[in-house]
Amino acid sequence: EVRIRNLHKVFGGREVLSGIDLDIPAGSVTAIIGPSGSGKSTLLRCINHLERPDSGYVEVGGEVIGYRPEKGRLRERSSRDIARQRASIGMVFQQFNLFGHRTAAQNIAEGQLAAGVPAAAARARAGELLKRVGLAGREGAYPSELSGGQQQRVAIARALARDPRLILFDEPTSALDPELVGEVLAVIKQLATTGITMAIVTHEIGFAREVADQLVFLDGGQIVDRGAPADVLDNTDNERARAFVAAVL
Ligand code: ATP
Ligand code: MG
Repeated sequence: EVRIRNLHKVFGGREVLSGIDLDIPAGSVTAIIGPSGSGKSTLLRCINHLERPDSGYVEVGGEVIGYRPEKGRLRERSSRDIARQRASIGMVFQQFNLFGHRTAAQNIAEGQLAAGVPAAAARARAGELLKRVGLAGREGAYPSELSGGQQQRVAIARALARDPRLILFDEPTSALDPELVGEVLAVIKQLATTGITMAIVTHEIGFAREVADQLVFLDGGQIVDRGAPADVLDNTDNERARAFVAAVL
């Protein structure tokens, strides 16, 4: 489903991603771990073109994101085309990013309404998605009336609203009080069983071990180890990966 090839990203002369090659098969879950500043968020942001790669490319569902091949070269896509591509990729951030002055249902329905879905259908879909994340009947709640865990579950429902083929999570539980982490992980875990393709940046090692099909360890903008979670977590021959895992466990 996702093919990343020789992806490079430079910020202010410093290379933050140095040649990432990664495949995320359709319906599988890839967990990405690594130290702060290793490029995890940048990698996710390149996948949905919130960041433009400096070289290399990301392909989702057989289409290069942000560029289209023309006469053997990659040409930039129109912003409309990029918006269409982005709509097929859901994203969930650490800080929820809900609109504070809009209800849960309005937050969820917003992308559908912008895409021209009739209001009644968008509303019905929002209700359905709220039920799916364990918040049945909370359509009218404002973010300030919800706990962090509930807000993040609304954000997950929003990311699902347009039936994405892929969903990206960037440390979805890092901003939560410890007692609220479990309810959000449970929703993500349930989602993983539905066959949607997922990439998740997380420090929840136990969760990664249990749910991920593939674990990727990023360090200094490079993938320094990858494989089945248990192999990477228990048997990595990379010194940095071993030290990191020992520190977060
Ligand atoms: P964390 O665990 O702290 O979230 P991360 O692995 O997600 O870290 P990134 O946010 O991808 O790391 O950042 C990688 C590097 O790129 C960092 O040094 C960061 O300061 C730098 N960086 C990220 N975004 C930008 C930007 N928009 N402009 C300049 N530098 C940036
Ligand atoms: Mg980050």
